[in-house]
Amino acid sequence: MEQKIQMTTPLVEMDGDEMTRVLWQIIKDELLLPFIDLKTEYYDLGLEKRNETDDQVTVDSANATKKYGVAVKCATITPNAARMSEYHLKEMWKSPNGTIRAMLDGTVFRTPIQVKGIEPCVKNWKKPITIARHAYGDVYKSVELKVPGAGKAELVFTGADGNEERVTIHEFDGAGILQGQHNVDESIGSFARSCFQYALDIKQDLWFATKDTISKKYDHTFKDIFQEIFDAEYKNAFEQAGITYFYTLIDDAVARVMKSEGGFIWACKNYDGDVMSDMISSACGSLAMMTSVLVSPAGIYEYEAAHGTVQRHYYKHLEGEETSTNSVATIFAWSGALRKRAELDHLPELTDFADRLEKACIDTIESGKMTKDLALITELENPTVLNSRDFIRAIREALEKYYR
Ligand code: NAP
Ligand code: MG
Repeated sequence: MEQKIQMTTPLVEMDGDEMTRVLWQIIKDELLLPFIDLKTEYYDLGLEKRNETDDQVTVDSANATKKYGVAVKCATITPNAARMSEYHLKEMWKSPNGTIRAMLDGTVFRTPIQVKGIEPCVKNWKKPITIARHAYGDVYKSVELKVPGAGKAELVFTGADGNEERVTIHEFDGAGILQGQHNVDESIGSFARSCFQYALDIKQDLWFATKDTISKKYDHTFKDIFQEIFDAEYKNAFEQAGITYFYTLIDDAVARVMKSEGGFIWACKNYDGDVMSDMISSACGSLAMMTSVLVSPAGIYEYEAAHGTVQRHYYKHLEGEETSTNSVATIFAWSGALRKRAELDHLPELTDFADRLEKACIDTIESGKMTKDLALITELENPTVLNSRDFIRAIREALEKYYR
């Protein structure tokens, strides 16, 4: 290219671990640096660096994201017992995604990348369905009890002023089980705002569903908070954008989703989102084709792939064996972040680049060149299986066609 595409504000770049760290460097070398005068503020979230800095680097990267507004993140290891000894860790550091999500108060939106030849199991899904999962509370923060035998269970709330509210849960005749769940209005409100913000951003309808007919206080509060915030803050903007907010019962939502064409955002409570995002990603074929973006209610964005560090492939790579790891979701994390940066900084050439980079990935796969994970599930006949690097080089060839 004669002149590289310019940027004005740096992207916050969060490097990561294992196979995705290897892909990260190849993506930069082959697909970004030859085309863009890439400006990033680099944070190494690789486990070694997190350990060395007592995880301060993760906090710093989240603060930088608050400052600049857009980040792109590589997959990172969440330490467990095995990683403690593998990396000689001082502590079992928390998941970077958890730390960043808590600091940005954000919601995660996951969308499958659909290509011809890898069709969703649900034949009428022409456009991708995005799942927004509330990432706080409910069963994930519940307390549980095994009831040993007969007795009375009560729900008690003691106010800061000492006032008490009390309801009977159940009079047990024999052994049983109990669970106490909670959520907080502030978190539900942040979830709602992130959903409305992201719907406006990608100009797609927003659906939200709970079981409010059965749960007349708990789930109904979710419904009410969404409606109040929508009416007060987003209704006009939605009308102007030509999109709708639609609430329905979860059972009805499931039935409608199956019959829909796709192309909308489905906001889910924590548990529903966990299960439904797994359903959508398996129906669409491959975890390696799911993108993920964390959106804060203040309009801050962090883009990444939904999959992890692909550890098994990394060990093969270390042994000197060839790998065929799919880099598409990681490339889409970069294109998503660059597009958002372009939009905020009014850089039409950078917007075009982001679009072309995505198109180059899709064209490459649709032309029959793909990684092994996709070759196993494609309906295309005789696909060409490429290794990790050659697949990215094939995307580069497709991308270069736009810049000749
Ligand atoms: P994973 O890295 O997503 O990989 C699970 C399996 O899915 C792989 O072994 C591979 O199957 C397949 N796969 C995933 N991504 C692929 C890709 N891009 N191309 C081809 N195949 C792909 O999950 P994991 O093995 O459970 O976790 C590994 C590490 O990632 C863990 O340390 C975990 O903490 C971390 N993790 C990080 C994030 C994040 O940063 N957002 C998310 C999840 C997990 P085959 O081996 O059968 O080929
Ligand atoms: Mg799950």
